[in-house]
Amino acid sequence: MNTDTYIIRRTRMVERLKLSGIRNETVLHAMNRVPRHLFIGYIFENHAYDDLSLPLSAGQTISQPYIVARMSELLYDPHTGFPQKVLEIGTGCGYQTAILENMGIGEIYSIERIKKLHDTARDNLHNSGCYRAKLIYGDGYAGLPTFAPFNGIIITAAPPKIPVALLQQLAIGGRMVLPLGDEQQQFLYLIEKSEHGFRETCLERVNFVPMLDGKTQIQ
Ligand code: SAH
Repeated sequence: MNTDTYIIRRTRMVERLKLSGIRNETVLHAMNRVPRHLFIGYIFENHAYDDLSLPLSAGQTISQPYIVARMSELLYDPHTGFPQKVLEIGTGCGYQTAILENMGIGEIYSIERIKKLHDTARDNLHNSGCYRAKLIYGDGYAGLPTFAPFNGIIITAAPPKIPVALLQQLAIGGRMVLPLGDEQQQFLYLIEKSEHGFRETCLERVNFVPMLDGKTQIQ
């Protein structure tokens, strides 16, 4: 498939995102720039711009474009704008990371617990011109205390409850976006941290792969 075809499909994808309620121009602009077909295996390339989640290796999945856009949009604070220092848990193929980078977020850290995906994500990001994000091979449950606090935290795998270390590493005034639940039922949550505590907002139903702890065996 040639580049023009991908550009046309990507433009249509962005139009569909607008119809689905995504309004933030910074997010839409990033979704229009990042070549999603470079982040998925060639077998599924033809579906790169459909609103589908697609399989990655090691039983993981890349989220559908709508959910990537929605989670990115939720990082936006009406008073202070987008956070400038973000921690992502679950790099996967690196697509969400590339969107954050193309949104102009200055400092991005992304943790992935599967080495093969961590390595592939780096190649995918470089192939699509993204060099800024720092990719870490490790367990997202621990976060990155050395680099904390973060103004934004985005988790792209579903934990059964909010990881305490990540709540601690969220800055005052920061926002955390995550799916919460088990494999039967999950909801998207927005957590806002203030000096008085945390405000939790439960949003729509979602479907993510589970966030696995360090003890779970990786196939
Ligand atoms: N944002 C990704 C979505 C990947 S799916 C993308 O755009 O492709 C979720 C990812 O979370 C998987 O790659 C999985 O390996 C990873 N994951 C699951 N548990 C984790 C943990 N405890 N720490 C870090 N990554 C984890």
